[in-house]
Amino acid sequence: MFTEEPKCKNASFPPQYNKFKCRILNEKVTTPTTTVYRCGPLIDLCRGPHVRHTGKIKALKIHKNSSTYWEGKADMETLQRIYGISFPDPKMLKEWEKFQEEAKNRDHRKLGRDQDLFFFHDLSPGSCFFLPNGAYIYNTLIEFIRSEYRKRGFQEVVTPNIYNSKLWQTSGHWQHYSENMFSFEVEKETFALKPMNCPGHCLMFDHRPRSWRELPIRMADFGVLHRNELSGALTGLTRVRRFQQDDAHIFCTMDQIEEEIKGCLDFLRAVYEVFGFTFKLNLSTRPEKFLGEPAIWEEAEKQLENSLNEFGEKWVLNPGDGAFYGPKIDIEIKDAIGRYHQCATIQLDFQLPIRFNLSFVSQDGDDKKRPVIIHRAILGSVERMIAILTENYGGKWPLWLSPRQVMVVPVGPTCEEYARKVQQEFHSSGFMSDVDLVPGCTMNKKIRNAQLAQYNFILVVGEKERTSDTVNVRTRDNKVHGERTVAECVERLEQLKCSRSRNAEEEF
Ligand SMILES: [Zn+2]
Repeated sequence: MFTEEPKCKNASFPPQYNKFKCRILNEKVTTPTTTVYRCGPLIDLCRGPHVRHTGKIKALKIHKNSSTYWEGKADMETLQRIYGISFPDPKMLKEWEKFQEEAKNRDHRKLGRDQDLFFFHDLSPGSCFFLPNGAYIYNTLIEFIRSEYRKRGFQEVVTPNIYNSKLWQTSGHWQHYSENMFSFEVEKETFALKPMNCPGHCLMFDHRPRSWRELPIRMADFGVLHRNELSGALTGLTRVRRFQQDDAHIFCTMDQIEEEIKGCLDFLRAVYEVFGFTFKLNLSTRPEKFLGEPAIWEEAEKQLENSLNEFGEKWVLNPGDGAFYGPKIDIEIKDAIGRYHQCATIQLDFQLPIRFNLSFVSQDGDDKKRPVIIHRAILGSVERMIAILTENYGGKWPLWLSPRQVMVVPVGPTCEEYARKVQQEFHSSGFMSDVDLVPGCTMNKKIRNAQLAQYNFILVVGEKERTSDTVNVRTRDNKVHGERTVAECVERLEQLKCSRSRNAEEEF
């Protein structure tokens, strides 16, 4: 039990004990008792649990330190923050170190620089400049989703970037989110850059009377979004101010939820399979603080459960973790080195249709029927997905996504013109192709350079190839496929690109 003054003494801390520990004790502890841990001369406030004794620790590493202020406040004392990690077995430390090294080599900021994908500039913090190679990846991802939209009954729309703040008042963003929005004045009215597409889509739904016959409406939008993240929080492509999503809103009836969710789950499995990601599913249900009718929540949650069960992948119930406006399915993908990332979302929303007073005419003539909105995205932010994919592949892009698909290497100067012609042919067939005409560099060195730059295929051309209109095919992993005609090679690579093969180099 601690009394008012001075707490340290009563807590059996020596009075000269570390003043910061005493300060925490005085300022943070409001309960009659608290827990401390002692190890030799060190006494530390902690909720625990701790290891029982330091003898359990067989390996230890201090891996980071940084300067910081007390409680993060610039007018308080400067302190050093030390990060350490311990293991019960030295082997586990070795594994951890290997993982750290692997993660560092795959860091998308490093690979983005090495592979000329993108950069950031102080004059627009948090907004990425995608160079031609990065833009190829960006656009290819969007094209992939777009092609799925056609198969799956989504319709793409284009909506404004700036809206009068009245829209955000209706949607509720102004009350809860305005400090994360970029806003400005135009002709004495306040406008803001959109941080999400949903309110604009509500205007689109509402722009004319809607009938049950039209539902579900699956409205897709790659619109540019802006969120005002603090400049100190911006990190590479994972935390940005400007981004695009493969965003879509499904306007449907209560009865259509199950079918639509099944469609969303099927869609995300198809996309993640292409990338080679496995994933985890969680169903988050009604929280303590919620809006709307409990009966509607229960009905919707039941439909979500049905869709998940029918989908056939394992899922976990997260009771009470839904948003206040509707239940949701959280999806986490697992990357090549075992890290989990949340990208996709499937979120039901009963409130936005109310806020925008959306309605449709039902089959029995009721013209005030309320639709349900499903917010959903699979890539999530395209920017962040590029960060995850870069690190997942460690810069070894699969052919279809690769900004360096084909490198043509002439054996000598006499074949350069033919090499250029071959490169042109691949270029006109839609491939990201280059030709290495650097003078004074040996053929072997050129092949090696192309392999290090992660060109999926390297096509060597010499006198023999020139006279027979062929190329000699090898891969970045130095697998030699041998001589093919240019036409054959273009055709095979087109097939592999269309199938979005993850292993085109082997399957050639
Ligand atoms: Zn939305």
